Amino acid sequence: MGSSATSFVVRFRAAANSFLSQYEPLALLFAPLLAMFLARALQLFLNTVHDRGLKATLLGFFMNSIKLVPSVRKYIDDEKQKVVDKMQSGSKSKRDGWRTELPSAGFGAAVIEKMKDEKTNDAAWQGKCSGTVYIGGSESGAHFSLINDAYSMFAHTNPLHLDVFQSVVRFEGEVVAMTAALLGSKEKASGGQVCGNMTSGGTESILLAVKSSREYMKAKKGITKPEMIIPESAHSAYDKAAQYFNIKLWRVPVNKEFQADVRAIRRYINKNTILIVGSAPGFPHGIIDPIEELGELAFSFGICLHVDLCLGGFVLPFARKLGYPVPPFDFSVQGVTSISVDVHKYGLAPKGTSVVLYRNHDIRKHQFVAVTEWSGGLYVSPTIAGSRPGGLIAGAWAALMSLGLEGYLENTKEIMEVSKKIQRGIKEISELFIIGRPDMTVVAFGSNVVDIFEVNDLLSSKGWHLNALQRPNSIHICITLQHVPVVEDFLRDLRESVQTVIKNPGPINGGLAPIYGAAGRMPDRVMVQELLVNFMDSSC
Ligand SMILES: *Cc1c(COP(=O)(O)O)cnc(C)c1O
Repeated sequence: MGSSATSFVVRFRAAANSFLSQYEPLALLFAPLLAMFLARALQLFLNTVHDRGLKATLLGFFMNSIKLVPSVRKYIDDEKQKVVDKMQSGSKSKRDGWRTELPSAGFGAAVIEKMKDEKTNDAAWQGKCSGTVYIGGSESGAHFSLINDAYSMFAHTNPLHLDVFQSVVRFEGEVVAMTAALLGSKEKASGGQVCGNMTSGGTESILLAVKSSREYMKAKKGITKPEMIIPESAHSAYDKAAQYFNIKLWRVPVNKEFQADVRAIRRYINKNTILIVGSAPGFPHGIIDPIEELGELAFSFGICLHVDLCLGGFVLPFARKLGYPVPPFDFSVQGVTSISVDVHKYGLAPKGTSVVLYRNHDIRKHQFVAVTEWSGGLYVSPTIAGSRPGGLIAGAWAALMSLGLEGYLENTKEIMEVSKKIQRGIKEISELFIIGRPDMTVVAFGSNVVDIFEVNDLLSSKGWHLNALQRPNSIHICITLQHVPVVEDFLRDLRESVQTVIKNPGPINGGLAPIYGAAGRMPDRVMVQELLVNFMDSSC
């Protein structure tokens, strides 16, 4: 019995061996493939853990797995749609009556009357918005007319055709030079000649600075797998740049003062790092990052440093001249390789204008695209757009030239004083705290007592449009000339709103506080991303 069992095993093994041996060549092939596959999977997993942390990775894996169950997927999609509908607060119905085809007989000049009607659908923004409209004050009517006149005079122009429109080519060069002169182009000791271009806005300026830095670092250091490191407070435009230009992005938490944490950033620098970023100030809390320390860091590693002056570029140089304490923030700091400045914010130029600046021509050359193999001829273009609005460039030139140094100094003094008044007013509301020490005209505040998003909903119901922030939950007001006459109204409405929430906590009808709260707490950030995309997809 025993021996027959043994012989069976022997025979079975022999049979199995001979069966398997026909596959031996394949096994030889597959074993390494399998090993490679497993190693690759492990590497991917470890990379994800490194990028997102173990918790987020496991959570992501878990969420992706349960979403494979159709009923779970459907439930999640339905819930998502509910949130999107709520965020839109019924704007679908607002689309009723929107035109979907050309009118067969044109309206001619009567179209202007129709547009006047349409304008009445906009919210009352005068004095009520954080940022948004920067032109304001008693002269604002005249200023708007001036930039509109400038625009209409040059609406037909396009600097793509440099040989035809010398006028706007000169305007662009002068706007860039005047802006650069405010930002240390004439002070810095070495490193070439500051140069730049006008763009359509802060985002385009940032996209271009990132793209140029990537190409420059490729040429200079042979970096082909570029990475950049930004503080958590840096603008979302860097995420856009990272996605558009295939750059790995590290968003590093800020320090206790809500400034870029230079030591933390240093830890993320490696041989693939092309760029670090500092803001002066950052959009969320209006706080200036330690640009000198960032400059030292970038310089010592031979990498680029972009300073985001989108908001501060037309305030800080004047604030410093007026005697407000302003730490160094521009090309006078060694290591700064590029700067973005929005002329369409505190420059009081028409919307759609910004400036990107480089320390020297060597870096800027990497911004341009030259095409030699097109049947359309030899082509070279400096920025993202091909054709560009010469009218807007003319409008920006008109704004800068009409205001002059004195005009900007006066405006800066007014808004810096309003900022101080608002900071004092907020400090007097014991339930609120100000985030960090605001350096300029953005004041962010939160609360440990009330739900700040409920306060924001009440402010919205009183017609204010503030910005909701996260980490920590807070809101901010970006002060413009629009606010000069309404400071007291704002502080009164803020005090009242806080009192109302204390007496009567809980969401108000149509309020967004529950959504902000939930979206902030939701551990599955991919889901929040999907929500935002769905919202956008059904909004435009
Ligand atoms: C406004 C802003 C931007 C982006 O500018 P857009 O003109 O909206 O594209 C970037 N960074 C900071 C600090 C800003 O305030």
